[in-house]
Amino acid sequence: NSSSEELSSFLESGIFRLDDGSRVVFVDPVRLLNRSYSRFRVSPSGYYSRSFKSRSKVRSIGEEEEEGIGDDAERRGKKKKRKRKSRELNEREICAEIRHQELRPLLLKAYNSLLTVSNLLSCLPNIVEYEDGYSNSGREEHNFVELGNLCQAPHYEISLCFNKGVIEEAEDSWPVRVGEWTIVPLFDNLIGNETTEDVEAEFLNSKYILPPRSSFYMSDLRRVRDLVPVHSDHGFNLIVIDPPWENGSVYQKAVYPTLPNRYFLYLPVKQLAHTAGALVVLWMTNREKLRLFVEKELFPTWGVTNVTTHYWLKVKPDGSLISELDLFHHRPYESLVVGYVNVKSAEFESTPSFTYMQDNQVFISIPGSHSRKPPLAKLLLDHVPGRKPAKCIELFARELVGGWMSWGNEPLRFQDSRYFIRK
Ligand code: SAM
Repeated sequence: NSSSEELSSFLESGIFRLDDGSRVVFVDPVRLLNRSYSRFRVSPSGYYSRSFKSRSKVRSIGEEEEEGIGDDAERRGKKKKRKRKSRELNEREICAEIRHQELRPLLLKAYNSLLTVSNLLSCLPNIVEYEDGYSNSGREEHNFVELGNLCQAPHYEISLCFNKGVIEEAEDSWPVRVGEWTIVPLFDNLIGNETTEDVEAEFLNSKYILPPRSSFYMSDLRRVRDLVPVHSDHGFNLIVIDPPWENGSVYQKAVYPTLPNRYFLYLPVKQLAHTAGALVVLWMTNREKLRLFVEKELFPTWGVTNVTTHYWLKVKPDGSLISELDLFHHRPYESLVVGYVNVKSAEFESTPSFTYMQDNQVFISIPGSHSRKPPLAKLLLDHVPGRKPAKCIELFARELVGGWMSWGNEPLRFQDSRYFIRK
């Protein structure tokens, strides 16, 4: 039947369409990321190392509401600390609450469509609890943000090993490969793997995996203009941006440095966009002030038009939402706003198979550790204008993707070999 066909296709692709119009999709980021690699696979237990307490049964939305979704012991512990004096909502918070109430039926419908697919629900614990030897103890991960700020940063080098082929294939060991080492400066330098094989790289005794045809530029925002192509028709057709927004919540642990909104006005999005058109995808937090800033200032400055809004709904491996839907400061969803640059280009709508993004799509997934965003590019490609293969870039990236350029002050962060297993 169609649901079991969809499940076996999900186990291959990482994409499970939950409705006919494909406006609600469940994704497994690990399977989506794995499409990038030739000799390695992303470790599921590394990706999903954030621990969620499993529950024995999935509750319907009615039961969840009575009990408080995700209200497990761990959460209750945190809640105690978080307890605030109840106060009236201010004007912006009231707007945010009204927006949430308008959105609620859409999210509930999407969530309930997940709950009806029992074969998908029953395989969720297996996709996260995967014995693959991942361990976060031992060697410390390099902090590229700190290293990039040191005065010796220009002297740091990374060694890339371009494989020449397999020379020895003993029965009880991995094939041994010979390679040619290329040593290049790590910071403020465009580094790429133009081959069709994964490349291993070494930096200060740690190993990093670079997927085929990926490149990265590790720098501070001050150098972001270095990415602007010399010829405007060499720009990007897909630009994904996940800025380090300042988070009003004092409870948020500082996992990376944040920047005030005005800095993002200077991102050269227009100059990075291909003259034949570009799809711009911007991740946002749920703050009303931010939504207004994006709508009224940021997108007009970047020249982004034809804007639609979509949602990432987060569930636990047991299928429950990660927090109560109505919890004001900890919604179990985030939004992504999507729009176009250079819509007036003649080539824009003549792109084969191109369609505009429909509004209000819902992407559901189990969140990975370190608040990693799910890689949605595969689902967006039909909405990307211009020639194929599309030229894609992620700004403020913490990982590399096959065929993409990644920019930020730590784009190698999740390329550490600890997050990978050999195929
Ligand atoms: N999309 C990423 C993911 O899913 O893993 C998360 C991106 S995170 C929201 C924002 C990133 O911007 C962090 O890696 C942070 O270190 C980086 N960042 C902060 N300040 C920066 C700056 N001045 N220049 C470049 N990158 C910066």
